[in-house]
Formats: sequence, structure tokens, C-alpha cells
Amino acid sequence: MHAMKKVLEIFVMTIVTSSAKVVLPQVPDVVHPPVPEDAHLDTTDSSLIEDQDPEVRPGLFQGDIALNNEVYKYWRIGLRWDVFPDKLWTNGTVPYVISPIYEPADQVTIYKAIRTINFMTCIKFVPWDGVAKDYILIWPIKYPAGCWSFVGKFGGSQIVSLQPPDRNGPNCLGTEGRAIHELMHALGIFHEQSRWDRDKFVKVHHENIIPNFKSNFDKQSLENTTYHYEYDYDSIMHYGKNYFSKAKGKPTITAKMPNIKRLGQRKAMSKGDCLKLNHLYNCFDNPKKKRKYYNLCQFMGL
Ligand SMILES: [Zn+2]
Repeated sequence: MHAMKKVLEIFVMTIVTSSAKVVLPQVPDVVHPPVPEDAHLDTTDSSLIEDQDPEVRPGLFQGDIALNNEVYKYWRIGLRWDVFPDKLWTNGTVPYVISPIYEPADQVTIYKAIRTINFMTCIKFVPWDGVAKDYILIWPIKYPAGCWSFVGKFGGSQIVSLQPPDRNGPNCLGTEGRAIHELMHALGIFHEQSRWDRDKFVKVHHENIIPNFKSNFDKQSLENTTYHYEYDYDSIMHYGKNYFSKAKGKPTITAKMPNIKRLGQRKAMSKGDCLKLNHLYNCFDNPKKKRKYYNLCQFMGL
């Protein structure tokens, strides 16, 4: 239990090479992302989880979110960005490192995700200069494996784990969509179906959820998840209809509105995702920028 509360131990060893401009921290294969006390990295249902989506597998909070107790506690009563401004990236600038362990093709996939967010929003992912205190390390962590991230800025170096393709499948890097999803968590966006008003739009089938993972379908308080935008079935942050399902053909979440063809997707930011990110990072703070980013979201958002 104590091991689970440990924060990331990635500062222990540092590779120093005189030729490299930027000194990269050495990241171990096994890390201990903080999880809340009443959540757990669960292995008892691992046989059920094996065939699931790579976002579901890490066994973190809601599948792919690493949270510490403080954030978890406040989130339950409503984590508000005006109360926790340090969870947002200063000036919308996010220094990043892409692990040199990735194959070139996988680095390109990750870079596409970064470039897409840089283009569609005023957020700026910039290569880490080796100096900035807070930055993200995009790294293929072996345990917990899968795709996972913290929500918002954690402080210091912060893992975004993206498992590369292997013989079992594309994992988190088939296209740039899953990388965008995890980067959006790192920017401070939660899952769409955890909105306080979601019961008007979706039905959660509790009887079909693997019992240990029922809390992954909790919804959040009004203060936390009041977005200025409508419920977004197309969101890249929405669960798919079979996430955490006990068995094939038993959906865990379905739409209540008619004519909804699918729940969530991992292809691209939806219009709503794009607007939400721009709003969160004050990209609409003057009329010219507002027009620019609003139009980009309308034309490029899925
Ligand atoms: Zn997620």
C-alpha cells in the first residue's frame, strides 16, 4: 500500500553526457504514480482486463489517470481551476521530452499529436530546454503499462505513458489520437462522461461493469465539470461503450439521445474538445484570437 503512495521516482539517476545539450533523466521501467488511498492498482481482475482497451489496462483512477490524494479529495468536492491555478501550465507553455527509446515512427506519431494541439489551440508544447522545472516526459513505462497520464500539471517532471505497438497490437500509438487523449489529461481535462450532468445524456449499465472498476464511472460535482459547452458524445475524452465491460456484447455505457452512432473516439479532437482546451487556456481572450481559434475548432474539429 505504501508503495502506491510513493511519488514518481525518476530523479534518482541522471545520465550526464558531455555531448548532449539536454540531460535527460533516466526513467525506470517500473514507476509508482500516485493513486488515491481508496483506489488501487488492481491485478485481481487482470484476466478480464487483458483484452481491454490500452487506456483501461493501467488500473489507475478511471483507468488511465494518475492522481494524488490531495487532488482526488478536492476533485470529489470539485477541483476548481481558479482554486488550483498551479494545475494549469503557465502561459499555456508545456515543455516536453519524447523518450529516445521510441522507434522513429512512434516518435512521429507522438509529434503529430503535439503539433495538432499546437496548431488548433494557443497552447504551446515546446522542447524541454533542460532547465525548466516543470515538464512532461513522454515515456513507454513498462509498469503500469498502457496509456496513462496525470490530470493537469503535477510539478517537476511528469510522466505521460504511451505504450508503443507490439505483437499484440498498436497499443497507444496506432494513430496520434490516443496521444492527444493523454496529453489532454496532462493539460487538465477529465473524461467527458464524468460530467455532473451526464445522466441526461448517457446511461451507465452498472451490471455490466467489472465490479472492481465501478467507481471509474462515478460522476463529478457541478463546480468541477461545468463546461461552457454541451455534452460531447464525439469527445476524444469520452469512454467507449465497452470500457471495463465484463463480457463481449455487454456495453457499460450507452447514449440516451436518439441518433447517436458512437460514444467517444480516439481519432482526433472533436469541435468540443478543441473549444474546451482553448477556453481553459484563455485562448479566447481577445477578439482576433477568438475568431482564429474558434474557426480552427469549427473546421478541423471532428
Ligand atoms: Zn483518459
